Amino acid sequence: MNNKIFRLPEFTHKARERWDKIPKEIQTKLLGNAWCGKCLDSVLMILQNAKVKTDMLLLEGKCKTCGSKVVRVVEPE
Ligand SMILES: [Zn+2]
Repeated sequence: MNNKIFRLPEFTHKARERWDKIPKEIQTKLLGNAWCGKCLDSVLMILQNAKVKTDMLLLEGKCKTCGSKVVRVVEPE
């Protein structure tokens, strides 16, 4: 129903490869408990872009609750 407000996340090529290797349920989990420094709680993250930096997958987005920027780092397995 609110599909229209979701911009498609922007991924670099490398980040897309890494992200696609992560099982769907883990992806959901990663986005479902990002830490928001403003809410001081685990929040749902609206994914906006992703990139790979020094072998870490960096997910950037917004807190679903307050709209603050949240970043989630996924370490290589
Ligand atoms: Zn928040």
